[in-house]
Amino acid sequence: VRRRWLLASASLVGAIGAVCLWRALSLEPYVVTARAADTALLAGVEVQRLREVLRLATVSPEDPNRFDSLPFLELQQLLVSAYPRLHQSLTRRVVNRYSLLYRWAGSDSSLEPVLLTGHLDVVPVDSATLHRWRHPPFAGEVSDGFIWGRGVLDDKGSVVAILEAVELLLRQGYTPRRTVYLAFGHDEELGGQEGAVQLAAVLRQEVSRLAFLVDEGGAVGEGVVAGVERPVGLIGVAEKAAVNIELSVEQPGGHSSMPPRWTAVGVLARALTRLEEHPFELRLTPVVREMFLRLAPEMPFKARLALANLWLLEPLVLRQMAGDPRLAATLRTTTAPTILSGSTKANVLAGRATAVVNFRLLPGDTPEGVLARVRSVVGDSAVRLRLLGSGTAGGEVADYHGWEYRLLERIIAQVFPGVLPVPFLTVGATDARHYTSLTRNVYRFSPLRVTPELLESIHGSNERVAVPDFGRAVLFYAQLLRSLP
Ligand SMILES: [Zn+2]
Repeated sequence: VRRRWLLASASLVGAIGAVCLWRALSLEPYVVTARAADTALLAGVEVQRLREVLRLATVSPEDPNRFDSLPFLELQQLLVSAYPRLHQSLTRRVVNRYSLLYRWAGSDSSLEPVLLTGHLDVVPVDSATLHRWRHPPFAGEVSDGFIWGRGVLDDKGSVVAILEAVELLLRQGYTPRRTVYLAFGHDEELGGQEGAVQLAAVLRQEVSRLAFLVDEGGAVGEGVVAGVERPVGLIGVAEKAAVNIELSVEQPGGHSSMPPRWTAVGVLARALTRLEEHPFELRLTPVVREMFLRLAPEMPFKARLALANLWLLEPLVLRQMAGDPRLAATLRTTTAPTILSGSTKANVLAGRATAVVNFRLLPGDTPEGVLARVRSVVGDSAVRLRLLGSGTAGGEVADYHGWEYRLLERIIAQVFPGVLPVPFLTVGATDARHYTSLTRNVYRFSPLRVTPELLESIHGSNERVAVPDFGRAVLFYAQLLRSLP
């Protein structure tokens, strides 16, 4: 009997293995057919105007009292003189003093308009890291084939590429059929309340629905997805919401020479440790699953075998992927304690110890759900929990099967030959979330090439874009605008 059982289970394992193998071998590569774009257009692209924009320190400081409005006003002036045709043919509105809204009237007003958006502000350069910059952050230098400067990847490169593309098309006498809006906020790095939120409000007064919008939040990635050598066009079709929870512990305080068994700081630290010891469960949301299925044929056989057989191997695959923090961020709601405070004096017990933990939510998770989970993991009534109002919304998933997405996909394939476009979950917050009431089709994609090293330069040092990559970005927007149905 035992032998027969062994034989049966061996043939079962064999059958499962054969199914897995067959599924891996029959994985169809995801193909986007497109004729390469006419690169003749690139000949006229200059970097001069981008360099001038980079020289203006349009910084969003953490402390609002340190906001300097002058560079923002200079930027408005600069754009007017740098893009004469655009300012002649499009109507411009300055919203809330520093944000800009342009309208390029289409010839067919029955078609839903399209919105290209970006932001004019940049994060400050920490003076402690200034010495790391090989070229000063606000000089707009071109060297070693790169354009250097704070904001060139995030997000001035895209903004200027949009303006260049419109100017270029106007020079060729092009008028869109569909009305095109350009919206550039001035405080994305602070949450967009003064910029994008106001821009969206103005837009809502004249547009009931947009066909789609393109903002930052994805890019052409090279070597940024483990195991995939082919460059990928990461189109963010959703972004993670952020939730901040304050943990606080209160005690009488007193002199540190006679501490209680557990101090407020100790109780708080224990709570934080529990949270880090119990990360949220790993989960393949539909967007991320789709991304991996489309990438699988590009991966080494072992990974392809696993991805083709998620029905069997999903838990294993998830555990494997979670080893890479960049991937893990797309597979779970993340937990990151960021702010801590206790006593201000070495010999005084904290009467109140607080911590703020920043959570980034997978689509489907809610702030209330996160709070409830935190309460049960901490499991300590001495720790008070409070949901802070400083989080960001998110979690809406754009359609990635309709013509709008497929158009974007096709343009990426035309402008970046060899690049595979895939839907993607943006883990940071973007201004795009403020426009979700205007359309479901919110796409986060900057047509700029990033490598792991370039990704680190965003909000870091030596932010830069290769000169030809900027040209491609202009070509991308020009091609997109010209191809709007
Ligand atoms: Zn940005």
